[in-house]
Amino acid sequence: MKTINERCENVGRNPEEVKLIAVTKNRDLSDIEEAVRAGLYCLGENRVQEFVKKCENIGVEGAEWHFIGHLQTNKVRSVAGRVELIHSIDSLRLAEAVNEVAVKRNICQKVLIQVNASGEKTKGGFLPSDLLEAVQYCEKQEGLKLTGLMTIAPLAEDPEDTRPVFKKLRELMQEVKTALSLSEMRDLSMGMTDDYGVAIEEGATIIRIGRAIFD
Ligand SMILES: *Cc1c(COP(=O)(O)O)cnc(C)c1O
Repeated sequence: MKTINERCENVGRNPEEVKLIAVTKNRDLSDIEEAVRAGLYCLGENRVQEFVKKCENIGVEGAEWHFIGHLQTNKVRSVAGRVELIHSIDSLRLAEAVNEVAVKRNICQKVLIQVNASGEKTKGGFLPSDLLEAVQYCEKQEGLKLTGLMTIAPLAEDPEDTRPVFKKLRELMQEVKTALSLSEMRDLSMGMTDDYGVAIEEGATIIRIGRAIFD
């Protein structure tokens, strides 16, 4: 998309550093197939049942699947090992459950820790104050490969209002990387239809877009 290149240019980033995920929630198979045919390679779903159905139909040959929604521990088996990346590790219990399935399947599941960077009461994810512990926990699990952080910005009329939240996620990742001497965390999954331009300027490496692609 044109905007991705422009926003990267604004801050001197290479557009190839930004992975575009087409969010398939509430979209039917024919729309998703059309998107894949049009060249969209990464697909993201936020509900397990939908993911299973769509993944079975679309397949994994021409597409890379991401799980981006809240994941219940009793549904981990349907997801772990079947997606490139789980964006939404939001509790230690979930991290433990994903690790358990991954170890059993003899794989290493790439994951992101979801951070409630705005501190809204209704939002899922670890509070910044609990992040260090969560990162340390994931780093110790042999079935998990922690590659970064994810956040969902609060609804805002002006996308500029979301900038502090994205900036905070970037700074939080830098802090934990420094504190724990980690080099492999590099992904910032942040930015959706209304705010991805700002997210890119603040360092997003993955953007999750639904409406701007499918509407
Ligand atoms: C729905 C959803 C998106 C995409 O939202 P749009 O506003 O349609 O771009 C991104 N991330 C998550 C976690 C979602 O649930």
